[in-house]
Amino acid sequence: MNVTESQYMYQQLGISEEVWEYGQKTEARLKERFREFDETAEYNQLKVIRAMQENRVSEACFNYVSGYGYNDMGRDTLEAVYASAFHTESALVRPQITCGTHALALALSANLRPGDELLAPAGKPYDTLEEVIGIRPSKGSLAEYGVTYCQVDLLEDGYFDYPAIEKALNERTKVVAIQRSKGYQTRPSYSVEKIGELIAFIKERKPDVICMVDNCYGEFVERIEPSDVGADMTVGSLIKNPGGGLAPIGGYIAGREDLIENCAFRLTSPGLGKEVGASLGVMQSFYQGFFLAPTVVCGALKGAVFAANIYEKLGFPVVPDGSESRHDIIQAVTFGTPEGVTSFCRGIQAAAPVDSYVTPEPWAMPGYDSDVIMAAGAFVQGSSIELSADGPIKSPYAVYFQGGLTWNHAKYGILRSLQSLIDDGVIPIEKLRGL
Ligand SMILES: *Cc1c(COP(=O)(O)O)cnc(C)c1O
Repeated sequence: MNVTESQYMYQQLGISEEVWEYGQKTEARLKERFREFDETAEYNQLKVIRAMQENRVSEACFNYVSGYGYNDMGRDTLEAVYASAFHTESALVRPQITCGTHALALALSANLRPGDELLAPAGKPYDTLEEVIGIRPSKGSLAEYGVTYCQVDLLEDGYFDYPAIEKALNERTKVVAIQRSKGYQTRPSYSVEKIGELIAFIKERKPDVICMVDNCYGEFVERIEPSDVGADMTVGSLIKNPGGGLAPIGGYIAGREDLIENCAFRLTSPGLGKEVGASLGVMQSFYQGFFLAPTVVCGALKGAVFAANIYEKLGFPVVPDGSESRHDIIQAVTFGTPEGVTSFCRGIQAAAPVDSYVTPEPWAMPGYDSDVIMAAGAFVQGSSIELSADGPIKSPYAVYFQGGLTWNHAKYGILRSLQSLIDDGVIPIEKLRGL
């Protein structure tokens, strides 16, 4: 396709010449970054293929199994594939794990007993875990079962307060929970290497402690995973990275055999464990999604870096910045005004393959203390490996965006968001000239 043909298509989809040109220039500057992402994807693609070959994945793995699901070969083989890819003894990968929060709640509640303590050595965990732990009182929380919670806040630079962590460890500390991605916080997302240093520090002082890593949004961003640096349980959601956009539901926990067994007993029932839980025909999407995940994550990373560079040059604060190394697929952009947040999200929505004609409005979402606007034109409801954005309507008026099943869609979505900000008068068109 020559330049004019491609530009014409963009024009048909609402992208003006100025925005398109700015996009082309920005993309041209990112060649080297993109090549690095491609190389990581290549490595991780081979890792997944090897895991599938080692475990002799066959067509029979995609069969529909209902009822109790005894001898559900597709399910059992997939769990072996995850264990191979994450280099763990075992894994639990199930459609009955409904989302990331559920997977994390399961990993914690299965391995903590009354009188035990959960330690968060790296500050406050993800919002939805507050109710799981009982930081915000909630029915069925760990607190209700007599599990106590201890938190060590981060230093100013967003990294670990080692002396305070050492002090916080005690004879009741049973599980340590570390979150790789920053979520909605302003701290950095952690590299797997940094997580490994933290785990090593903790295990030197208390070797029997169980280290759990919330790996949401981190899978396949690097060549190694937390399970490669000492995490006893690595946990995530299949409607994020490892589902590759195809898994319609699900979560995973990969780790030590005895801990995963506890998780299985908690998910189904004591005595039953992994033996039950029919896969109900979703196995093909789980396998195929896992197979595609390294490439999908690569596209999402390109989109995140592209967006960082597009908005950074226009003078908006971006986290991570345009040149930093990446440890998850989330990009934050601060617009500083409610109009900026709304306009950005409307642009992302307008670029979607599904529900593109819908105009998102801010609303009072349960669990949030301000109105939130969300853009999600997804094939799978709420899927955030698909191009999606959300922004709380409160200072500093930042949007968090992520995903894109393909780099091409991510690029179009970001250009469409910029067009929307220009059309709504938030960014004067003159600002693009000369950039
Ligand atoms: C998304 C996310 C979760 C929760 O996952 P859900 O599927 O939304 O329940 C937990 N931790 C982190 C860091 C996340 O990004």
